[in-house]
Amino acid sequence: MEKQKYERPLIKKLESGMPNKFGTRTGYQPTTHIENVPVKDLIKKYDSPLFVISEKQIRNNVRKAKQAFETRYPKVQFAWSYKTNYLDAVCRTFHQEGSWAEVVSGFEFSKALNNGVNGSKIIFNGPGKSDKDLKMAIENNALIHIDHLEEFYSIRQITEKLNKKAKVAIRVNMDTGIYPMWDRFGFNYENGQAWDVLNKIIRTDSMELVGLHTHIGTFMLAASAYSAAAYKLADLAVSIRKKYNHEIKYIDMGGGFSSKNTLKGAYLPGQDVNPSIDEFAEAITSALINSNFEKGHLPILILETGRALIDDTSYLLGTVLSNKRLSDGRRSTILDAGVNILFTSFWYDHKITPAQPFTQYTEDTVLYGPLCMNIDVVRNNVNLPLLNKGEHVVIHNVGAYNMTQWMQFITLRPRIVMIDEKEQVSLLRERETLSNFLEMESVPEHLKTFDL
Ligand SMILES: *Cc1c(COP(=O)(O)O)cnc(C)c1O
Repeated sequence: MEKQKYERPLIKKLESGMPNKFGTRTGYQPTTHIENVPVKDLIKKYDSPLFVISEKQIRNNVRKAKQAFETRYPKVQFAWSYKTNYLDAVCRTFHQEGSWAEVVSGFEFSKALNNGVNGSKIIFNGPGKSDKDLKMAIENNALIHIDHLEEFYSIRQITEKLNKKAKVAIRVNMDTGIYPMWDRFGFNYENGQAWDVLNKIIRTDSMELVGLHTHIGTFMLAASAYSAAAYKLADLAVSIRKKYNHEIKYIDMGGGFSSKNTLKGAYLPGQDVNPSIDEFAEAITSALINSNFEKGHLPILILETGRALIDDTSYLLGTVLSNKRLSDGRRSTILDAGVNILFTSFWYDHKITPAQPFTQYTEDTVLYGPLCMNIDVVRNNVNLPLLNKGEHVVIHNVGAYNMTQWMQFITLRPRIVMIDEKEQVSLLRERETLSNFLEMESVPEHLKTFDL
């Protein structure tokens, strides 16, 4: 038997009258391996902190999502939301699984082209498309989802100059019973803005109206909202057909399905209560099937789901720098991974497990990152065993938005690796270095030298 580790004794005030039917301890095992690769070896080779992505899990997720929709609806197309995670290797995994690209900037558009996606399979969303971006999109036959009227006028001007037709859809926002409403993007359904721009598009020769789009929110916890949205888009599509004898090719229901993460303040773990992909699929497809499309005229259903397909594929490995007692007696542990690389810790209570076997005594702990900033809190309160300096932790479900929204703040960004289906590890992104950083800076001549 291994020698038991010494733990410093602690006197702790007993709190009574704070019932919790689930007990104080969330049962967990140490996460010593990810896809059979030892966490220790990963950190030894690639340093800490380190993002680790499972290719197998990405493929499983897409296949499961596709199956959920394809068993319920005849024509389904997924498009990978680049901003959720635009590492080339991640995007290409999705493209290999048949997903198109969904982008929201010229930068992301170029990234998709560079990944080899044909322009006609790039969906261009977002309120911030410049004229240059729009020109690139039109030249590449992309599907441009118009967000506001200025964009409509820009596209009209550019198409006339290029003497080329643009394929467009509009983004529609509507009341889905979820408040506050996401009405800042696209054209409103209830107040007639959507019809106004649709009429304009259909009467413009240089544009072809190919679809209708909505993206009703993010981390949605009610599948019923999608049903309301799908009915409204179907109503628009059917009415366009009636009024203009024009058939749109697709309805794009956007993304926003919740992942299995637990939102801060939620009583039950997200794993247990957030709707499954099947529930979202059922809500959307039954609304479309029950709407007034004529037989044989159902549009293609496009989905741009992001976080629900990637969150649980990725882990952030970190190392304990120190422990200390706070003035109120709580234990705090300082990690080398902070909110600068774990943006989602602002709204999720991430699942965190030790990466090595531990003793049975656990204690409520505050987990801090390494930044010299008060906001750098990875978990406000998490029940953990004692973690000693140099020991490792695994932060789960970090695949969505962290590797795109991370900040170069105080420290440089760490490496990202992927474990493939053969359990081989590849480096996807090198860690940043001082010279990467200095490449972008310059110092005026008169500031180059000083005497101290
Ligand atoms: C961000 C975004 C998505 C993906 O959203 P998730 O919440 O990650 O599923 C899809 N479509 C559009 C237009 C977006 O802006």
